[in-house]
Amino acid sequence: MSSLLIVEDDDLLRDALSAQLAQAGHTVTPAADGAQAQTLLESSRFDGVILDLGLPKVSGMEVLRWLRKRLPALPVLVLTARDGVEDRVQGLNAGADDYLTKPFSTAELQARLDALLRRARLPAFGGSLEIATASAARLRLDATLPMAWLGDEALELTQREWALLSLLVSHAGQVVSREDVLSRWQAEPGEGAGGGSNALEVYIHRLRRKLDGSGLNIRNVRGLGYMLEPFAP
Ligand code: CA
Repeated sequence: MSSLLIVEDDDLLRDALSAQLAQAGHTVTPAADGAQAQTLLESSRFDGVILDLGLPKVSGMEVLRWLRKRLPALPVLVLTARDGVEDRVQGLNAGADDYLTKPFSTAELQARLDALLRRARLPAFGGSLEIATASAARLRLDATLPMAWLGDEALELTQREWALLSLLVSHAGQVVSREDVLSRWQAEPGEGAGGGSNALEVYIHRLRRKLDGSGLNIRNVRGLGYMLEPFAP
């Protein structure tokens, strides 16, 4: 299923959540404070994060802001205290995808989380996505059309280029494996034969040229795949 990071300083709650989500088939990594969460986020890839806002060392809000600059598309479910209306608003503004108020039922957590992960799952992301670039022009993707723009300028993309770019953008800051791309290509209507790793190199090269001047970099992560590095000023 999914690989989840659970950041919660309350030992009992963290253990209970971990056990529950592991039982639901997820791979769970627990973290007890904000600093530990940051270390884990820098070294491992996660499909989603459950983040308590009241954390020692580095606050949940700080972790959230920090995380959004690096992993703009990573699903984050925020946990807030009962009366934390202010927290909820701040959390959503800082980039949380959804929130739960303590105490919550395990069924509700499961439902919210499933919805988040479903929205983020390959191949489709609904609606549109935007990420900052080094120039003033943002990179914007609209999956319903599908089309991409760099600033006001529409990018001319083939179906495969679109599939590759949308995969990289929706997982910006995370490694996308060759297998991820190839299986995504298989799900799309073809552009003729030849969808192997060599073809992938060619498409990566083409995309890099189309993103030229944006400051966005498609990094080759040796042995793992490719990563779009979002621009975080
Ligand atoms: Ca707490």
